[in-house]
Amino acid sequence: MRTVLIVEDEPAMLRGLEDNFRAKGYYVLTAVDGAQALATALKEKPDLILLDIMLPEMNGYEVCSHLREQGRDVPIIMLTAKDRESDIVLGLNLGADDYVTKPFSIKELLARVEAFLRRRESEPLVYEFGDCRVDLAARTLTRAGQDVTLTPGEFKMLHLFLRKRGCPLTQDEIRSTVWGYSLFISVRDIDKAIDTLRSKVEPDPAHPQFLHTIENIGYRFEMPVPHGNRADR
Ligand code: CA
Repeated sequence: MRTVLIVEDEPAMLRGLEDNFRAKGYYVLTAVDGAQALATALKEKPDLILLDIMLPEMNGYEVCSHLREQGRDVPIIMLTAKDRESDIVLGLNLGADDYVTKPFSIKELLARVEAFLRRRESEPLVYEFGDCRVDLAARTLTRAGQDVTLTPGEFKMLHLFLRKRGCPLTQDEIRSTVWGYSLFISVRDIDKAIDTLRSKVEPDPAHPQFLHTIENIGYRFEMPVPHGNRADR
Protein backbone atom coordinates (compact mmCIF):
# COMPACT_ATOMS: atom_id res chain seq x y z
CA MET A 1 0.00 0.00 0.00
CA ARG A 2 1.30 3.46 -0.83
CA THR A 3 1.87 5.77 2.08
CA VAL A 4 1.26 9.50 1.83
CA LEU A 5 2.25 11.98 4.52
CA ILE A 6 -0.05 14.98 4.59
CA VAL A 7 1.28 18.02 6.41
CA GLU A 8 -1.29 20.73 7.04
CA ASP A 9 -2.09 22.84 10.08
CA GLU A 10 -5.67 23.77 9.14
CA PRO A 11 -7.86 21.01 10.63
CA ALA A 12 -10.65 21.20 8.03
CA MET A 13 -8.21 21.11 5.14
CA LEU A 14 -6.27 18.24 6.71
CA ARG A 15 -9.42 16.24 7.34
CA GLY A 16 -10.63 16.75 3.76
CA LEU A 17 -7.33 15.62 2.26
CA GLU A 18 -7.05 12.70 4.63
CA ASP A 19 -10.55 11.42 3.78
CA ASN A 20 -9.98 11.71 0.05
CA PHE A 21 -6.63 9.94 0.05
CA ARG A 22 -7.95 7.16 2.33
CA ALA A 23 -10.93 6.69 0.03
CA LYS A 24 -8.47 6.17 -2.84
CA GLY A 25 -6.73 3.40 -0.92
CA TYR A 26 -3.68 5.24 0.37
CA TYR A 27 -2.26 4.67 3.81
CA VAL A 28 -2.33 8.20 5.24
CA LEU A 29 -0.01 9.71 7.82
CA THR A 30 -0.60 13.25 9.02
CA ALA A 31 1.35 16.02 10.71
CA VAL A 32 0.16 19.43 11.87
CA ASP A 33 3.47 21.22 12.27
CA GLY A 34 6.90 21.20 10.66
CA ALA A 35 8.77 19.44 13.45
CA GLN A 36 6.25 16.62 13.52
CA ALA A 37 6.35 16.42 9.72
CA LEU A 38 10.12 16.02 9.68
CA ALA A 39 10.13 13.40 12.44
CA THR A 40 7.34 11.40 10.78
CA ALA A 41 8.94 11.59 7.33
CA LEU A 42 12.30 10.36 8.65
CA LYS A 43 10.78 7.56 10.70
CA GLU A 44 7.97 6.29 8.47
CA LYS A 45 9.52 6.85 5.01
CA PRO A 46 6.31 7.75 3.15
CA ASP A 47 6.14 7.33 -0.64
CA LEU A 48 5.11 10.94 -1.12
CA ILE A 49 4.66 14.08 1.00
CA LEU A 50 2.05 16.79 0.59
CA LEU A 51 3.60 19.70 2.39
CA ASP A 52 1.91 22.91 3.40
CA ILE A 53 4.36 25.84 3.48
CA MET A 54 3.03 28.06 6.26
CA LEU A 55 3.29 25.85 9.34
CA PRO A 56 3.98 26.31 13.03
CA GLU A 57 7.32 25.22 14.57
CA MET A 58 9.21 24.84 11.31
CA ASN A 59 7.90 25.94 7.93
CA GLY A 60 7.53 23.76 4.87
CA TYR A 61 10.69 25.12 3.24
CA GLU A 62 12.77 24.06 6.23
CA VAL A 63 11.17 20.62 6.33
CA CYS A 64 11.97 20.23 2.66
CA SER A 65 15.59 21.28 2.90
CA HIS A 66 16.20 19.15 6.03
CA LEU A 67 14.88 16.08 4.21
CA ARG A 68 17.07 16.70 1.18
CA GLU A 69 20.11 17.34 3.40
CA GLN A 70 19.50 13.91 4.92
CA GLY A 71 19.52 12.42 1.44
CA ARG A 72 15.80 11.61 1.35
CA ASP A 73 14.53 11.79 -2.22
CA VAL A 74 10.84 11.22 -1.45
CA PRO A 75 8.64 13.24 -3.84
CA ILE A 76 7.37 16.43 -2.20
CA ILE A 77 4.41 18.41 -3.49
CA MET A 78 4.04 21.81 -1.84
CA LEU A 79 0.63 23.09 -0.94
CA THR A 80 0.89 26.82 -1.11
CA ALA A 81 -1.72 29.41 -0.25
CA LYS A 82 0.09 31.99 -2.29
CA ASP A 83 0.70 31.76 -5.96
CA ARG A 84 3.59 34.18 -5.69
CA GLU A 85 6.19 32.86 -8.07
CA SER A 86 9.09 33.71 -5.78
CA ASP A 87 7.70 31.40 -3.07
CA ILE A 88 7.22 28.61 -5.55
CA VAL A 89 10.73 29.02 -6.94
CA LEU A 90 12.17 29.00 -3.40
CA GLY A 91 10.37 25.75 -2.61
CA LEU A 92 11.48 24.11 -5.84
CA ASN A 93 15.06 25.21 -5.23
CA LEU A 94 14.97 23.72 -1.75
CA GLY A 95 14.08 20.36 -3.21
CA ALA A 96 10.29 20.23 -3.63
CA ASP A 97 9.21 18.48 -6.83
CA ASP A 98 5.97 20.23 -7.61
CA TYR A 99 3.37 22.56 -6.15
CA VAL A 100 -0.35 23.18 -6.09
CA THR A 101 -1.81 26.53 -5.14
CA LYS A 102 -4.80 26.73 -2.83
CA PRO A 103 -7.62 26.53 -3.53
CA PHE A 104 -6.96 23.42 -5.65
CA SER A 105 -9.15 20.67 -7.00
CA ILE A 106 -8.79 17.49 -4.95
CA LYS A 107 -9.40 15.46 -8.07
CA GLU A 108 -6.52 17.14 -9.85
CA LEU A 109 -4.26 16.70 -6.83
CA LEU A 110 -5.08 12.98 -6.61
CA ALA A 111 -4.32 12.59 -10.32
CA ARG A 112 -1.02 14.41 -9.91
CA VAL A 113 0.00 12.23 -6.95
CA GLU A 114 -0.97 9.10 -8.85
CA ALA A 115 1.13 10.18 -11.84
CA PHE A 116 4.10 10.90 -9.56
CA LEU A 117 4.04 7.50 -7.94
CA ARG A 118 3.54 5.65 -11.22
CA ARG A 119 6.43 7.52 -12.79
CA ARG A 120 8.69 6.71 -9.89
CA GLU A 121 7.88 3.04 -9.94
CA SER A 122 8.82 2.69 -13.58
CA GLU A 123 11.81 4.67 -14.81
CA PRO A 124 12.22 3.32 -18.34
CA LEU A 125 15.55 2.72 -20.08
CA VAL A 126 14.31 4.22 -23.30
CA TYR A 127 12.18 7.31 -23.72
CA GLU A 128 10.31 8.12 -26.91
CA PHE A 129 8.61 11.39 -27.76
CA GLY A 130 7.83 12.86 -31.16
CA ASP A 131 10.43 11.39 -33.49
CA CYS A 132 13.04 11.27 -30.70
CA ARG A 133 14.36 8.18 -29.00
CA VAL A 134 16.59 8.51 -25.94
CA ASP A 135 18.49 5.44 -24.83
CA LEU A 136 19.70 5.94 -21.26
CA ALA A 137 22.01 2.93 -21.20
CA ALA A 138 23.74 3.81 -24.47
CA ARG A 139 23.42 7.55 -23.70
CA THR A 140 22.27 8.29 -27.24
CA LEU A 141 19.59 10.39 -28.89
CA THR A 142 18.25 9.51 -32.30
CA ARG A 143 15.70 11.45 -34.31
CA ALA A 144 13.77 9.58 -36.95
CA GLY A 145 16.51 6.97 -36.75
CA GLN A 146 19.38 9.48 -37.21
CA ASP A 147 21.99 9.98 -34.49
CA VAL A 148 21.95 13.40 -32.87
CA THR A 149 25.11 14.48 -31.06
CA LEU A 150 24.63 15.75 -27.51
CA THR A 151 27.34 17.05 -25.21
CA PRO A 152 27.49 15.30 -21.80
CA GLY A 153 25.85 18.41 -20.28
CA GLU A 154 23.03 18.37 -22.82
CA PHE A 155 22.44 14.68 -22.20
CA LYS A 156 22.32 15.26 -18.45
CA MET A 157 19.84 18.08 -18.90
CA LEU A 158 17.64 16.04 -21.22
CA HIS A 159 17.69 13.14 -18.75
CA LEU A 160 16.73 15.49 -15.92
CA PHE A 161 13.76 16.77 -17.94
CA LEU A 162 12.68 13.24 -18.82
CA ARG A 163 13.00 11.98 -15.27
CA LYS A 164 11.01 14.93 -13.99
CA ARG A 165 8.63 15.18 -16.92
CA GLY A 166 5.53 17.13 -16.08
CA CYS A 167 7.33 18.84 -13.16
CA PRO A 168 8.41 22.46 -13.06
CA LEU A 169 12.20 22.86 -12.97
CA THR A 170 13.87 26.11 -11.95
CA GLN A 171 17.09 27.41 -13.46
CA ASP A 172 18.91 26.72 -10.19
CA GLU A 173 17.80 23.10 -10.20
CA ILE A 174 18.97 22.70 -13.77
CA ARG A 175 22.25 24.39 -12.97
CA SER A 176 22.97 22.27 -9.90
CA THR A 177 22.08 19.01 -11.64
CA VAL A 178 23.93 19.68 -14.85
CA TRP A 179 26.89 21.78 -13.75
CA GLY A 180 26.95 21.46 -9.96
CA TYR A 181 26.90 24.73 -8.05
CA SER A 182 29.15 26.48 -10.54
CA LEU A 183 29.29 30.23 -10.09
CA PHE A 184 30.36 30.60 -13.68
CA ILE A 185 27.08 29.45 -15.17
CA SER A 186 24.65 32.34 -15.52
CA VAL A 187 20.91 32.37 -16.09
CA ARG A 188 21.69 33.44 -19.64
CA ASP A 189 23.92 30.37 -20.13
CA ILE A 190 21.09 28.13 -18.99
CA ASP A 191 18.66 29.79 -21.38
CA LYS A 192 21.18 29.26 -24.16
CA ALA A 193 21.60 25.60 -23.24
CA ILE A 194 17.81 25.20 -23.32
CA ASP A 195 17.69 26.80 -26.77
CA THR A 196 20.33 24.38 -28.01
CA LEU A 197 18.50 21.40 -26.55
CA ARG A 198 15.28 22.60 -28.17
CA SER A 199 17.02 22.82 -31.53
CA LYS A 200 17.98 19.15 -31.13
CA VAL A 201 14.62 17.70 -30.02
CA GLU A 202 11.85 20.05 -31.12
CA PRO A 203 10.23 19.89 -34.58
CA ASP A 204 9.81 23.68 -34.39
CA PRO A 205 12.10 25.12 -31.68
CA ALA A 206 10.33 28.50 -31.78
CA HIS A 207 7.07 26.80 -30.77
CA PRO A 208 8.14 24.04 -28.38
CA GLN A 209 5.96 20.98 -28.05
CA PHE A 210 8.00 19.33 -25.31
CA LEU A 211 10.25 21.79 -23.55
CA HIS A 212 8.02 24.59 -22.33
CA THR A 213 8.95 27.82 -20.59
CA ILE A 214 6.93 28.59 -17.45
CA GLU A 215 7.14 32.31 -17.02
CA ASN A 216 8.98 33.47 -13.87
CA ILE A 217 9.45 29.87 -12.69
CA GLY A 218 11.56 27.94 -15.18
CA TYR A 219 10.82 25.08 -17.54
CA ARG A 220 8.62 22.02 -17.83
CA PHE A 221 8.99 19.01 -20.11
CA GLU A 222 5.65 17.68 -21.30
CA MET A 223 5.55 14.17 -22.63
CA PRO A 224 2.70 13.79 -25.13
CA VAL A 225 0.38 10.81 -24.62
CA PRO A 226 0.84 8.30 -27.47
CA HIS A 227 -2.22 8.18 -29.70
CA GLY A 228 -2.43 4.40 -29.51
CA ASN A 229 -3.19 4.62 -25.78
CA ARG A 230 -6.34 6.66 -26.11
CA ALA A 231 -9.21 4.91 -24.41
CA ASP A 232 -11.84 6.36 -26.73
CA ARG A 233 -10.48 4.74 -29.87
CA1 CA B 1 -0.84 26.52 6.82
